[in-house]
Amino acid sequence: MEIHDQVKATGDKLKALELAESSRESEWKFPSFAAELFKGKLRWDLIMPYPEQSAEEKKIGDDLLAKVEKVLKAHINPDLVDRTGELPTEAFKAMADLGLFAMKIPKSYGGLGLSQVNYSRVCHLVASYCASTSVWLSAHQSIGVPQPLLLFGTEEQKKKYFPMFVKGAISAFALTEPEVGSDPAKMKTRAVPSADGQHFIINGEKLWCTNGPAADVMVVMALTPPKIVHGRERQQVTAFIVEKTMPGVETVHRCRFMGLNGIQNGLLRFKDVKVPRENIIWGEGKGLKLALTTLNTGRLTMPAAVLGASKWCLKAVRQWAASREQWGSVIGKHEAVAAKISTMTATVFAMDAVAWQACAMADAHKTDIRLEAAMAKLCCTEASWRIVDGSIQIRGGRGYETAASLRARGEKGLPFERIMRDMRINTIIEGTSQIMRLFIAREAMDMHFSNLMPMMSSKTSLLQKLGAALKAFCFYALWYPRQYFYRVSMPAGVSIPAALKKHMKFASHSGHQLARELFHAMMMYQQKLEHRQLLMSRLVNIGTDLFAMASACSSAVSKVQKNPADKSAVELADLFCRQASSRIRKQFHGLHSNNDRFTYDLAQKALDGRYAWLEAGIIDPE
Ligand SMILES: Cc1cc2nc3c(=O)[nH]c(=O)nc-3n(C[C@H](O)[C@H](O)[C@H](O)COP(=O)(O)OP(=O)(O)OC[C@H]3O[C@@H](n4cnc5c(N)ncnc54)[C@H](O)[C@@H]3O)c2cc1C
Repeated sequence: MEIHDQVKATGDKLKALELAESSRESEWKFPSFAAELFKGKLRWDLIMPYPEQSAEEKKIGDDLLAKVEKVLKAHINPDLVDRTGELPTEAFKAMADLGLFAMKIPKSYGGLGLSQVNYSRVCHLVASYCASTSVWLSAHQSIGVPQPLLLFGTEEQKKKYFPMFVKGAISAFALTEPEVGSDPAKMKTRAVPSADGQHFIINGEKLWCTNGPAADVMVVMALTPPKIVHGRERQQVTAFIVEKTMPGVETVHRCRFMGLNGIQNGLLRFKDVKVPRENIIWGEGKGLKLALTTLNTGRLTMPAAVLGASKWCLKAVRQWAASREQWGSVIGKHEAVAAKISTMTATVFAMDAVAWQACAMADAHKTDIRLEAAMAKLCCTEASWRIVDGSIQIRGGRGYETAASLRARGEKGLPFERIMRDMRINTIIEGTSQIMRLFIAREAMDMHFSNLMPMMSSKTSLLQKLGAALKAFCFYALWYPRQYFYRVSMPAGVSIPAALKKHMKFASHSGHQLARELFHAMMMYQQKLEHRQLLMSRLVNIGTDLFAMASACSSAVSKVQKNPADKSAVELADLFCRQASSRIRKQFHGLHSNNDRFTYDLAQKALDGRYAWLEAGIIDPE
């Protein structure tokens, strides 16, 4: 790399980090189960008793789900949607008539005023039937205009837009650009104030905007004039409500994908689009913070949706494994298949526990859910991909065959092939798994950052450094020994089945070990820790599995309390925890014994073309 390239790369990285830091929610107004876990405290009180819907809430959800199911079956044929790439017009009308484009909009504006749990229950049901339809609904109201307006909109904005969604108007969220994927610091779309300051003129392009080509209104992220912070220019990203009818908004191209064929997703162009100042949501420069905060709850739809699809796979594959005979018995009796079925079942149980726990936490507003939502998104999307992959393996050749082809030769048209194509995107959108891990790692380290960074920063004076060192010394003199000498944390006054007790104790011990390892990593690598992504991933994976174990135990305890004769949930939690504990032990081991450096160096050599000889004898990629 030439010297000026290196300088540019460092500058770009600094810009990206500064923007990310200035956009994160720095305060923790409420306690967080996961944040406490990374500090070594397993707070069962934040996760138990397992949240249940009130009878009234449940009825609201049940009644709506029954209607949604009817609408889906009457108007949507998922395989046809997949083939034609279109959702029928009547389906939109029927969904709008049910209020499905205003699910979380308060009743005072004409919406259904659903809780996060009931909203996610709808997405869970829809996703178990047709992923494209589920994406239409969730892109609109998990990340589109309704959610940011709910959180940060002015009364005028709510009065103007909410009634439109009640009638079935559709929205979209436009952040990504050809050069902006995970790194918004590279944003090119600009919004320049007009001479009278009453408008902003937006110019730029937005890529992969889901619902975009059909949306009546969308949230568009754009750079507005920079601010000077500590003598340096800082980028400002602002969120605008842009209406489709505003002159200069154009769909350049409808993007087509491996799956989700029924969605409308496009490359949009904004050419001198004049947007009134009052269409800014929250405030100038608050766009990225708005996106991150919106996603804290917006992201919760994804675990519920992939859970719905995973349950569909589980049910279909269980029936298949119990009926398909090969080599003298049904295939589910062969140990290799049986192991897949049991892992899938236990995993779906844990996904269910995590997804509804996180949604209920969002409704309760008593805990900070930024980490739990990210963990739920990360672990449920990754688990669902393993489930669809395992299901296809168990279906054998039929897993790979299209539903239409199966049906044409007289078999049940189980659409695993389509489901696999539809599901692949989930570890990429709304934060890739890699970015989720970085996000979780940053939040997990927050306590240490606040304690240690003032000592390491070049911006603090010697006196400030000494003050910070004294404060940190006092804190860690108490905190650190507690990570070695502690009482195992178990929920107070709750009868725990013996099969789960050992897992809950393991989780408590592991919480302390996790806190120690995180602290050691901070001390050892300091600012260079950000480059040790594999090390941080292991810590995040441990934290995420501990959250899933705790949720699974909480859910099983609650189920067995309600019906002591039925131990099925305990069995599932037991298996999930056994498997999660082995993963956790492996991850802890990997912190100290790994090939990370060697692997990284080899990748760099591969990128430099050192092993290009290995690629001989093929037709080159274009
Ligand atoms: C079907 C579909 C729907 C979408 N809907 C929307 C939408 O409605 N609105 C919208 O704004 N966007 C949308 N997107 C965009 C989506 O959010 C992005 O694809 C996603 O953010 C990742 O960006 P990218 O694809 O450019 O990947 P890149 O950011 O280029 O990343 C490529 C790979 O590098 C990894 N990577 C990147 N940076 C790092 C890092 N620092 N450390 C480790 N790994 C890293 C990523 O995890 C990924 O594996 C959609 C995309 C698709 C395909």
